[in-house]
Formats: sequence, structure tokens, C-alpha cells
Amino acid sequence: MRRLPVFFVLDVSESMVGENVKKLDEGLNSIIRTLRQDPHALETVYVSVIAFAGKARTIVQLIEVASFYPPKMPIGGGTSLGGALFHLMAEIDKTVVKTTLDTKGDWKPIIYLITDGKPTDSVSSAISKWKLEYANRATLVAIALGKFADIGVLKQLTEYAMILENTRDEDFKKFIAWVTDSVKSQSKSVSDTSTDNANLAKIDEAVLSLIKDSKDLRPADPDYVILTGRCQRTRLPYLMKYERNTQKVKHQDFAMDATHYMVSGCYPVGEEYFEWSDGASGQLKVNTSELLGTPGCPHCGNASAFAMCDCGGILCVNGPGIAVCPWCEKEVEFSFGAAGSEGFDVNRARG
Ligand SMILES: [Zn+2]
Ligand SMILES: [Zn+2]
Repeated sequence: MRRLPVFFVLDVSESMVGENVKKLDEGLNSIIRTLRQDPHALETVYVSVIAFAGKARTIVQLIEVASFYPPKMPIGGGTSLGGALFHLMAEIDKTVVKTTLDTKGDWKPIIYLITDGKPTDSVSSAISKWKLEYANRATLVAIALGKFADIGVLKQLTEYAMILENTRDEDFKKFIAWVTDSVKSQSKSVSDTSTDNANLAKIDEAVLSLIKDSKDLRPADPDYVILTGRCQRTRLPYLMKYERNTQKVKHQDFAMDATHYMVSGCYPVGEEYFEWSDGASGQLKVNTSELLGTPGCPHCGNASAFAMCDCGGILCVNGPGIAVCPWCEKEVEFSFGAAGSEGFDVNRARG
């Protein structure tokens, strides 16, 4: 039995926290549900899931669709695309059966790589290795989610580099349907015609577009800031997300754009967040006076998830008083409403 291996390589960096990771989760479930009802896919398709943030790991080993059990998506800091590609190449070597003189191996694997960010590691050696040793024996489809992804890097990797500019529910569902149809048509073509050349479904250009020209490939700067805190009571980490909000300020004598960031959510994550992060402390800085709104702690309900210790760690507090910092274990005293609060610099995650 020749298998058709399908690898999903999914970006689970901080910027995916909240809605995006939920959509990815539901999308993967929907793909598998549909494939289970397709006779060709049931017979030939084997699925593996690799997640990557600061680290890349296999979260589902290559398995037939009938036995696939949906994984829990992790979240981590960093976007190690280079690391993810090396991990993928090692997985292909380990799991995909090669054709030899005596036996027919697996069909050419298809990889769906989905990312919404810019690599935080070096990707050039991974890309060269991929192009030299793997590009002709695997089909790689790379999809950029939204305009902050580095589509230039994806374009270097594969001719099937695409962008899903709008990640609203409706567009995301169409995108997932396209992935599903592509897997189905690939499995039909290996079953019916015994060819494993790329056979992707027709693209709805209004939703997903192939990246053609190489101009304008620079990713936009993200319009959000993500900060990592730890709950003082449970010690568990959480992510605070702030989104850019630019307003025209009109005055009698001048007009200007005032940029600040409004809180848009605060998400609990598990201790494994640190295992999926690359550990390098963020280089980007943001001044807290630009951040508006203080969320509550998503773990313990403390009123403010945004108190900062002298050590630089962010923690939750329920009001003024003494707290033990979950980062450095020292006692810190907080007093609110201090005059002349000019803000302070905090490290900002790079997801
Ligand atoms: Zn808390
Ligand atoms: Zn501290």
C-alpha cells in the first residue's frame, strides 16, 4: 500500500494566540472530518502535524486519517522557520518510505506550511538544503496568513507560495475548504492515474492568491504588541495582546496621527509555553505609556495583569500592596496612581 503523506507545518507563535490558533485548530479538525468521508483519502492519505514557534516539534506522527486524533495546539515565543524546515526534512527522512528497485515507496509527500510572521531565526541554510535535496521529491505549499508574514521567504522556498490576506471567519473557512479539496484531488490522482505531480484545487483568487511578483515582498510591521506575564497566585504564564490604534488628532494649529495600542485580549497559556519558546529575550521595546487598558489576570481573576517588578517581569496584582514576584521570587511593593507616570520600557515578544 503506497501512502500519500501530508504534513501540516503550523506556526504557533504568540501572534497566533486567541482567534487564529482557534481557527487553525477547527480548520484541521474540519479537514480530517471531510477526508474521512472520502474513499480515496481514507485509503491513501496519512497525516502528520508539526508545530513551530521558537522550537519545532512533531505533535502528530504520520498516521492514517481514520486514526487521527486532533492535537492540542501549543503556543510559544519566536518564529523559528529555519528550525521548522530542518525538523520537517528530518521527519521526511524518518517516515516517508523511499522507492527502491524492489519496492514502490510512498507517494510524493505534500506539505502545507502556514505562518503569520517573520522568521526569528536564520532560514537561508534551511532553504538551500530544502531546494537542493527535497524540493523535487515533495510538494511544498506555503501559505502566509495576513500581511505581516514574510512572503519573500515563502516565495524563495516554493513556487506554491500564497497569501491569505484576510483571515476573517468566512475567508478562513474557504481557505480550509481549498486545502481539503487539494488533498482530495491529490489522493484521487494518485489512486486513479498513479501520478503524484502537484494537483492542487482551483484557487478562489478573492480569498487566496498566489504570490507572483517579487516586488513589495517586505512584510508590514505588526500592528500589535504581545507581552508575557506570570500569574502571582498560580505562577502560570499569560499573554497580553495590544492592537495598534491610530487616531487623527486635530488642533487649531496642527493635525497629527497619534498612535497607541489598545488592549484586545489576555490569554492564559500553560507552562509549556516556555518549552516552545526560543528563550532569547525580546529586543523590541515598547513604551508602556503607549499601551492603553489593563486586562485582568486570566488565571486567577486579579484585577490587573499588568504590574511590573524591578526584575522586568510582568505579574498580576489585585491592588496596591506587597506581592511576591513569580519571576524573581522577591517581594515587591506596588502603589497605584503615582504622579507623573511616564511609562516604562518593557520587553516585547516577537512572535
Ligand atoms: Zn493571576
Ligand atoms: Zn521580579
